Amino acid sequence: MAKRTTTFEYAPAPESRAIVDIKPSYGLFVNGEFVDGHGKAFKTVNPATEEVLAEIAEADDHDVDLAVKAARRAYDRVWSKMPGSERAKYLYRIARIIAERSRELAVLESIDNGKPIKESRDVDVPIVSAHFFYYAGWADKLKYAGYGEQPLGVAAQIIPWNFPLLMLAWKIAPALACGNTVVLKPAETTPLTALLFAEICQQADLPPGVVNIVTGAGGTGQAMVAHPDVDKVAFTGSTDVGKAIARTIAGTDKRVTLELGGKAANIVFDDAPIDQAVEGIVNGIFFNQGHVCCAGSRLLVQESVAEDVLHRLKRRMATLRLGDPLDKNTDVGAINSAEQLARIRELSAVGEAEGAERWSAPCELPSHGYWFAPTIFTDVTQAHRIAREEVFGPVLSVLTFRTPAEAVAKANNTPYGLSAGIWTDKGSRILKMANQLRAGVVWANTFNKFDPASPFGGYKESGYGREGGRHGLEAYLR
Ligand code: NAD
Repeated sequence: MAKRTTTFEYAPAPESRAIVDIKPSYGLFVNGEFVDGHGKAFKTVNPATEEVLAEIAEADDHDVDLAVKAARRAYDRVWSKMPGSERAKYLYRIARIIAERSRELAVLESIDNGKPIKESRDVDVPIVSAHFFYYAGWADKLKYAGYGEQPLGVAAQIIPWNFPLLMLAWKIAPALACGNTVVLKPAETTPLTALLFAEICQQADLPPGVVNIVTGAGGTGQAMVAHPDVDKVAFTGSTDVGKAIARTIAGTDKRVTLELGGKAANIVFDDAPIDQAVEGIVNGIFFNQGHVCCAGSRLLVQESVAEDVLHRLKRRMATLRLGDPLDKNTDVGAINSAEQLARIRELSAVGEAEGAERWSAPCELPSHGYWFAPTIFTDVTQAHRIAREEVFGPVLSVLTFRTPAEAVAKANNTPYGLSAGIWTDKGSRILKMANQLRAGVVWANTFNKFDPASPFGGYKESGYGREGGRHGLEAYLR
């Protein structure tokens, strides 16, 4: 645990990793069993220690083809023919097993991703289980959703590394509930919980081929997107890759949903309860090390309270505990990869070079692993790159405004449109602002709240389609 300077020290409270059984190497999960890949292998690393955790198969075109074929067979012969009420039983079973094995999943997620155990344990894994419960409930009620009752077929699903298991749940639960079968690829830096989920599919006796997990990097993803027998592509990741996918499938009859990046404004008015707003700012940008597509990475604070908010924000940031992700007291864990750390460092250096003032919470960074102290930039203008580009790390840009109209103009001045936050005492102002903000999700007097029943998705370069809720069924039905 890194030393901090401003509060007393807690005794270490590490969660035991004895509950997880990480194998030296993993194959691909195709047609209900683990098989060797035909391609190369790569390593997955614990970002908090740089320890190599396991060797992972890198699926090549042939492996992807086998996985798609298995998914097609399962779709034609079993899953699309099964009554919704029967499919629901499998989803309920998976949801229950996830709940039963939640500690194991949380520990493994924190080891492979670097996120604090209190987040994987209290946020990620409970919502994963809830997501399967929620869509299990829809499986026999699709005719009431209003999007048709027929599944699409085989879905190729590609997810990022920031919420590995949660993004898997957002993809697999609605697809299966609607009668589709899937080939899913986790991100190359965080494959382990998806592979444990494959074991859970076996434990649930899910018919072979309904869920296939292929591991690999961008090349594997490209092969999935381009495969002629894929009916639907569901992607969460960067806007650049999202655009490449849209180009690849243009002119085909594949359906697509894209959940991409964001640069959300978190807007604090002078009548907001300031201490609560400060908690919301901290949660908005430092939750999950800021590796959050809907992170409140641009703080817009009304000029009259800016000094007070910043003072209290710095005081609060000085109490954040950065260090061992498996320690139950840790607030800020490790950056997921050396590449991501390099990007955060680069954009932060640009912020300084462009004239913004940098302040980091006082904390000592561990000597091994990938770490970045919670950081804020003040004197930021809308032209600065740190105000326009997604840093995807624990870095907040602070801008000020005088009037609600100015706040709306600044908040909307981005190519993205995923989320926003409003902090004010006035309900009428919340509603008026929310109507004017071009963001898929607007939180009021809170931030980063997720629920399976609530749809999530973006405008503009944040992508198209919705995940979660009744709306999330539309992407998997015709
Ligand atoms: P990324 O786009 O580099 O990778 C995402 C996934 O796509 C990975 O599995 C990767 O292997 C795969 N991939 C890479 N190149 C590909 C290609 N050419 N074809 C097909 N697949 C390819 O993004 P990342 O760095 O892993 O994730 C960070 C990004 O994800 C951020 O921009 C973040 O905002 C976004 N994100 C969005 C949401 C959302 O719901 N909107 C959620 C989480 C993350």
